[in-house]
Amino acid sequence: MSDLTARLVYRRYLSLLGAKTKDSFENDIVSRLTYALREKTEHTLPVKLSRVSEQFLIDPVPTTAVGPSGGTITFNCNRKRFVITLYGLNADQYDDIGPKSKLRFNYAHEVAHRFFFIEQNEGWVRAIHEAITRLDGPQRINALTTLTHHEEMICNNVARRVLIPDDVLLNTIAPGLMIELGANRKQFFDALSKFADMLVVSRECLLLRLKNAIVKGTIMAPTHRVLFLVEPSTSCDKARRMKGELHLRVPLFPTTLFSQALRPVFPGMNFSEFGRPADEIVRDLMFSTSPSGAVKLPMHFAFKGSADGSGLTMNFRGWWHKLPSARNKHAKLVFWGLLQNPATAVAGLR
Ligand SMILES: [Zn+2]
Repeated sequence: MSDLTARLVYRRYLSLLGAKTKDSFENDIVSRLTYALREKTEHTLPVKLSRVSEQFLIDPVPTTAVGPSGGTITFNCNRKRFVITLYGLNADQYDDIGPKSKLRFNYAHEVAHRFFFIEQNEGWVRAIHEAITRLDGPQRINALTTLTHHEEMICNNVARRVLIPDDVLLNTIAPGLMIELGANRKQFFDALSKFADMLVVSRECLLLRLKNAIVKGTIMAPTHRVLFLVEPSTSCDKARRMKGELHLRVPLFPTTLFSQALRPVFPGMNFSEFGRPADEIVRDLMFSTSPSGAVKLPMHFAFKGSADGSGLTMNFRGWWHKLPSARNKHAKLVFWGLLQNPATAVAGLR
């Protein structure tokens, strides 16, 4: 698909949705849901979206079915209602605080999808399908893949932003967590768990929400503080990850060190990019029987634009904790702490 076709399809998609940009559309959905929730439920937590779904023509009670994790939303012409189906979760699909938070997240995600339907002939159809009607063959598939990806990202963001409202994040959660992060205390995890329980969201969901708010500049993080999750790949997947490789999630790292711009660190990045010693230490922790502890990791950060990976090796000093999950074999580890003086400045560590 040519760049021009891709741009035209994207523009058509946004215009069908009545949106200027995808960010403004996301903000719009969050505002509509938050406003409805405020009218109905004041400030009670956890957020219960089913109390306001009727306002958006959504049947408040979802149906459940056997299927892959996640859910679907469809428009039922006879009932003139959107119906959400949540796939029954088996233990493999629980998140780090159990099935309830996962189902709540999936429900919120499907509610967000509802705003990607447009009204047509007394029914509602997906804007995504309307946007690609004039395409066929590989062009159609490419456009569908790209737009689906955008829509999924927005729905995930909306779900996190609605289940963890701005005011709760800014007034309660951020101050509580930033104190622990700033003091580099083990108690960060207890505070994180307390807030996750209060909101009935997974710790990972809360970490992502926090990270995104810090990256956007809504919340200030103390200097040189670092937060990330590591998880092993379970099989060779689409991103060509090999089984047993460690991957980075929810990465919160400085973008510069000592005024030097760093090569961006991104979700899904192979953890061995930080150097073999860090990779080996984390691997040992993953298989250790203890659930948490203190840790020191030498972490290599490549300078932006360096072809051979040269950069700085910093000492990460902090803490780690396993994220309890039914999928113990695929445990995720959360790390938080600070980066200290460079141990060495080296060229091409890998
Ligand atoms: Zn989805």
